[in-house]
Amino acid sequence: MIIQPTASHFIDGKYVEDTAGDAIPVIYPATGELIATVYSATPAIIDLALASGTRAQKEWASWTATDRGRVLRRAADIMRDRNHDLSVLETYDTGKPYQETSVADATSGADALEYFGGLAASITGEHIQLGEDFVYTRREPLGVCVGIGAWNYPTQIASWKAAPALACGNAMVFKPSETTPLCALKVAEILIEAGAPAGVYNVVQGYGAVGASLVTDPRVAKVSLTGSVPTGRKVYAAAAAGIRNVTMELGGKSPIVIFDDADLENAVSGAILGNFYSSGQVCSNGTRVFVQKGIKDTFLARMVERLKGVKMGDPQDPDVNFGPMVSERQRDIVADYIKKGIAEGARLVAGGSVVKGDGYFIEPTVFADVTDDMAIAREEIFGPVLSVLEFDTEEEALARANDTEYGLAAGVFTADLTRAHRMVAGFEAGTCYINTYNLAPVEAPFGGSKQSGVGRENSKAAIEHYSQIKGVYVAMGDVEAPF
Ligand code: NAD
Repeated sequence: MIIQPTASHFIDGKYVEDTAGDAIPVIYPATGELIATVYSATPAIIDLALASGTRAQKEWASWTATDRGRVLRRAADIMRDRNHDLSVLETYDTGKPYQETSVADATSGADALEYFGGLAASITGEHIQLGEDFVYTRREPLGVCVGIGAWNYPTQIASWKAAPALACGNAMVFKPSETTPLCALKVAEILIEAGAPAGVYNVVQGYGAVGASLVTDPRVAKVSLTGSVPTGRKVYAAAAAGIRNVTMELGGKSPIVIFDDADLENAVSGAILGNFYSSGQVCSNGTRVFVQKGIKDTFLARMVERLKGVKMGDPQDPDVNFGPMVSERQRDIVADYIKKGIAEGARLVAGGSVVKGDGYFIEPTVFADVTDDMAIAREEIFGPVLSVLEFDTEEEALARANDTEYGLAAGVFTADLTRAHRMVAGFEAGTCYINTYNLAPVEAPFGGSKQSGVGRENSKAAIEHYSQIKGVYVAMGDVEAPF
């Protein structure tokens, strides 16, 4: 199967190739087959993309916001019409099952385009009366924004960054992850087809070095990264050197706290969504599952029972609900963590094995008797490895849930309303859940605190991160001066 894109990059409204860059092999994770080759952006390509974005941004910002919004809403419609093809492509790019991609990727991208398209016209400044004088504010775009993506949700990440950026009148140069370079090109195609001026959304391919050159270019006003904490530190520091705005959507090691009064089936479902969806390759995953002592054994028994419903196989088969790791490298990282968990004395309750074959499959894995100091409880694994930790009291659960450098998400399952809200108030995390887990509708802010990030994506909050306010003082009388 070869699904070679027309060219590696999409700049100024068209596909552009430059084979002088390093070759980036694109592998279908379910079989290990090479399905495409793209080329890393050379300095000439990077310059072309930024020059095009700089020129297009001025034109785009001069449109009325209603007109800009209409383009985004049209793009949302096109994306929804093409959901099947885009989902098949997303599955080839990432290995995630079609059963997931057909409801969670292009659909989520379309939601973002529709939401911010609808919001565009109400992104306005305000009027502040000061006696006879007054101040008005203009909400202005930042300029050219750089988006850098991770590999787990390539269509969603490209769209979640494009939609608010473009709604505010910015242009964007987006660099997808080198592991999943195909889907963002389709987002760029769709925006142009929907009527966006050429250059408003450009895509360039490349490894980290291409991202690094984009971040330090003087034409760039803002950087939005979705990636790991170590990459976040580098990108944030590089952006800081130029006093650039940033959004950092980084990693996590999030807790799910399950009290003994919780609806057990819902809690098991939440833990499944928070550990095994996308084969565990979700940043907000609740990989530390704190279960109250009295229900721990029942919880584990139900989890093992429910895992019998896992159907692993060709992710393009709509009946398959569990796919491979995105790459051989990621499979090996996860397999090493499983070995570490066993060596540290955690009790393997389910899974634990790499599946033999050419694809990068790992069984959904559950550890019990995990303690707070184990590597599997402290470090982000980014794979299907669920750790169950036992607790007695609410105070203990909250303290242990917060005892991490990360702060992306946190969830609580309980029938006690006041306890649920107390827990959420105490969680040191940007995105919290009560009696569910891992939903990310566009209407809700998404992002992390502590080491998990800066800023928020989605919701009205994203507008703050893609625009700036200019204050304008208007005098109605004479100017008073001391001499
Ligand atoms: P990564 O940090 O390895 O790479 C992310 C992106 O940064 C890639 O496009 C990469 O090429 C680029 N990059 C690497 N070095 C760079 C540099 N010095 N300058 C500029 N760009 C550079 O992450 P990954 O392995 O692709 O993705 C997995 C990570 O992403 C996990 O930690 C996960 O938690 C995180 N993630 C976070 C969110 C969120 O919204 N918070 C969502 C998805 C994934």
